[in-house]
Amino acid sequence: MKRYLLLSIVAVVIVSTFSYGTKTFAAFTDIGVTHRAKDEINYLATGLITRGESDNTFRPERQVTRAEAAAMIGRALQYNGAKRVTQFSDVGADNFASGYIQQAVENNILTGYSNDIFKPNQPVARGEMAIMIGRAFGYNPRTITIASEQLISMGIAQGLPDGTFGTANYIKRSDFAVFLSRSINPQMRMLGNEPDFNQTAYVTTNDLNVRTGPGTTYPVTGQLNLGNLVQKAFEIGEWAYISYNNQQGFIHTAYLSTSKPDVTSVLSQKTIIIDPGHGYPDPGAVAYGLLESDVVLDTSLRLKEYFKKTPINIKLTREIDKKVELSDRVKFAVENKGDIFISVHANSFNGSANGTETFYYSASATNPNVAQSKALSIYLQNRLLGALELRDRGVKKGNYHVLRENKMPSSLVELGFIDYKEDNAKLASPTWREKAARGLYLGILDYYYHYEGLQEVKPLYNEVGGKPSAKLH
Ligand SMILES: [Zn+2]
Repeated sequence: MKRYLLLSIVAVVIVSTFSYGTKTFAAFTDIGVTHRAKDEINYLATGLITRGESDNTFRPERQVTRAEAAAMIGRALQYNGAKRVTQFSDVGADNFASGYIQQAVENNILTGYSNDIFKPNQPVARGEMAIMIGRAFGYNPRTITIASEQLISMGIAQGLPDGTFGTANYIKRSDFAVFLSRSINPQMRMLGNEPDFNQTAYVTTNDLNVRTGPGTTYPVTGQLNLGNLVQKAFEIGEWAYISYNNQQGFIHTAYLSTSKPDVTSVLSQKTIIIDPGHGYPDPGAVAYGLLESDVVLDTSLRLKEYFKKTPINIKLTREIDKKVELSDRVKFAVENKGDIFISVHANSFNGSANGTETFYYSASATNPNVAQSKALSIYLQNRLLGALELRDRGVKKGNYHVLRENKMPSSLVELGFIDYKEDNAKLASPTWREKAARGLYLGILDYYYHYEGLQEVKPLYNEVGGKPSAKLH
């Protein structure tokens, strides 16, 4: 009983691997979980390259006809398979593979026989298969011998036990599926047969899906963003096989370019003004031997490091322990043509208050950027809460000189309370200040991404292993 139960569980787990992503298809009834070619047959089925019979069988032992081979190769190459008139007297427009046969012949992948005969129902021999695949995937074989040697050297096919390729032997549907799937996906080839990723290309859009095969029915294994650099090995139809971050997969060639997209032009116009509060001889809040002026300067300098790796400009109103007048802070922001202004502070009360809060100025008479300032504050507060894990005191209206007198979207963040023990411990810690700086970085990106719709910032999240927040404003 126990053994039976265990076997059932194993069977369920294995069968469930036939469900790729959100798309599920019934495995062929005659391809069991132990079939030697099940992975390859299911891979082709996922890409709608093999369809099996109407009774949901695959008939793995049956020979492949020339028409079937043409259809499978044509689907792999994403041909339009619409039935049509062909140049062959024995392939009528009503033949299921007429469209694939005609296009494959026009593209010099298949050839007919003399007298306009194609022999669509003739079984395919292994040597013929090697030529077909070699031509279809651009290996350009001149002879059957070369074609078979190429497939062996690439880990796509193996010779027979007698040492020959079995050129004249007819090929079974299961073996054809193995060779075709390996031709498409190098990760299915025999070990040690990595393709040559010898072409550099750039991604030209955000949220580009990387898939396990050349088609949208294949599961997604990753995403790329505008400006990401990839290495390309080959193309199949409209899809490219690429390598990035030690991963491999297929992306659509419509979103690849050999020239670097102009991500930087928009971003390089942006200047962020960071305003570390106070400075000697004004330490701001002081408790447990910690000075607000030191905490906010260190956090701001760390934030600067994040933006130095991006095209966005960042300027600090002070980079040393020296007081700057409030009016000079605003003047600095305006003179440097800042796009946004963020004043960084730490709080104090009487030792009884704690948490993180962010302020914006809500009257439009002097600084008209009320909605922008509020949105900026929302995104900064959200990220600071995630970074510092302190109490959420919320986003609030505040009548501060550096917000009120400014001319750009402006926020004032209070990281935490320097005179509250738990907050103080984090503000005193370089590790937590680094987290706060990263939080401010992500909050700024979120504001640009969600409020300004600036798609170009999307790749900047990748730099720190982050991604956009939910839309919050
Ligand atoms: Zn302060």
